[in-house]
Amino acid sequence: MPETLVLALQQLTEAYVKVRQDKSFWQQLGELLSSYSGRPTPLYRARRLQAEVGGPEIWLKREDLNHTGSHKINNCLGQALLAQRLGKSTILAETGAGQHGVATATVCALLNMKCRVYMGAEDVRRQALNVSRMRLLGAEVVSVESGSRTLKDATNEAMRAWVGQVDEAHYILGSVVGPHPYPWMVRDFQAVIGHEIAERIVPRLVVACVGGGSNAAGAFAHFVPHKEVRLVGVEAGGHGMEAGQHCASLGLGRPGILHGALTYLLQDPSGQVADTHSISAGLDYPGVGPEHSSWLASGRVEYASVSDAQALDAFELLCRTEGIVPALESAHALAWYVREGPGQPEAGPWVLCLSGRGDKDVEEVLRLRGLA
Ligand SMILES: *Cc1c(COP(=O)(O)O)cnc(C)c1O
Repeated sequence: MPETLVLALQQLTEAYVKVRQDKSFWQQLGELLSSYSGRPTPLYRARRLQAEVGGPEIWLKREDLNHTGSHKINNCLGQALLAQRLGKSTILAETGAGQHGVATATVCALLNMKCRVYMGAEDVRRQALNVSRMRLLGAEVVSVESGSRTLKDATNEAMRAWVGQVDEAHYILGSVVGPHPYPWMVRDFQAVIGHEIAERIVPRLVVACVGGGSNAAGAFAHFVPHKEVRLVGVEAGGHGMEAGQHCASLGLGRPGILHGALTYLLQDPSGQVADTHSISAGLDYPGVGPEHSSWLASGRVEYASVSDAQALDAFELLCRTEGIVPALESAHALAWYVREGPGQPEAGPWVLCLSGRGDKDVEEVLRLRGLA
């Protein structure tokens, strides 16, 4: 990390250590999660999906039914409340497809905080609807012209901006990535997903897609000490395993440092961050949360990948069998179920984290299918 942020990160760590012990904080957060975002989200048994696949009993954790359409708001509400307690007036955030930007802008409107969102120019162009949503919600959207003009560059720029106004601003990172305390704090704020699953069911397996890894970390955290529960993270295999064609940081990366974290990283032979590709913008990141790297190293969590084509088929399958349009990100976890489930109908119950809804992806899917 830049020297200039070390002090801010230490202060944030100290503040979070205190808040973590403070019952009134979790109570305030819990009230907002339920009254504003609609938690607990349903755990839904997908019988027609199971019948079509011929796999184990499968339950969908409906994070798509959160306000703003994904799990992102769990983390945004937590960090914004923390920022309020720290007396910060301004929130900074990065965004790729715009889901985290919209969730952050929403929470800032709710809590009356100033909001500035950094977004790669390429993503600003591709995700025009989310840019308009953020602006309607009162956020300033800054188009980032450096590098590949996508998420990694937006993150660089947001961190640079934070250096310049660290006293009045808090930076809300959108996943379990970046420097300490973010991977720890974001995992805690997303852990509500796994706690709610455990209140309803004793699963034999939990599966989730992995971009930075926050919905997966949130779904897994409760179960990590329960060794009898299999945990599976699914990365974006893109067009295939050649360099630049995928985002399988855990499957094909090497240890390296990105945005202040030591983790598996896609890099070229000289250690420069590699190009990536995924059908799903939310999974398109060359690194991954460091705790996932640790779970891979210890063998506690299994990681796999599925291709763009498999995710696209799974997207359509869920629409047709259950009347649910999933995010293309979540469709990666579904595609793993479609591939691995058949032939073991007795292995359930399995739980799949349906991280978000797919309205944002409909246009892209039609384009890829040659229908628009
Ligand atoms: C952002 C996003 C993801 C990827 O982020 P993680 O931190 O890996 O969870 C997955 N699904 C949806 C719907 C998203 O918006």
